Amino acid sequence: MISSKILVIEDEKRIREMIKEYLENSDFKVIEAADGNEGLEKFDIDDYSIVLLDVMLPTVDGWTVLREIRKKSDVPVIMLTARGEEYDKLFGFELGADDYIVKPFSPKELLARIKAIIKRSRKVSDLLNESNIFIYKDLKVNFESRKVNINEINVDMTPKE
Ligand code: CA
Repeated sequence: MISSKILVIEDEKRIREMIKEYLENSDFKVIEAADGNEGLEKFDIDDYSIVLLDVMLPTVDGWTVLREIRKKSDVPVIMLTARGEEYDKLFGFELGADDYIVKPFSPKELLARIKAIIKRSRKVSDLLNESNIFIYKDLKVNFESRKVNINEINVDMTPKE
């Protein structure tokens, strides 16, 4: 189950509030962090479906936060970067960022990117979960648990069968 909680690590209060208001209207729950340290602390205490991460942050910068997150999680991360700021796309992707968006951005565009990423990560986790299952019409064979279902009814079989 993928949570709909989003962690926003951004030191500009105005941007944080804009993101929070817009995403909460779209049924996401938004947790805010105002600097890198707070972001890492909040990351550790909960599960998020996505992290929005500013590059220029007080205490611990966005790159370092991203590195720390990647040591323990493959949660999707969207980098927030200011216009005119030197943002190295390749560096970001190398560190494991999934996407980036340039400030000022419209909350509508941000939401579209969030939805696209969540959809993508759902597909991947579905594939991982279903790869050991063979389905043909009403027949469902789970090779991992060695269970055969017809019409959702379990069929008793010997291992060889
Ligand atoms: Ca900033």
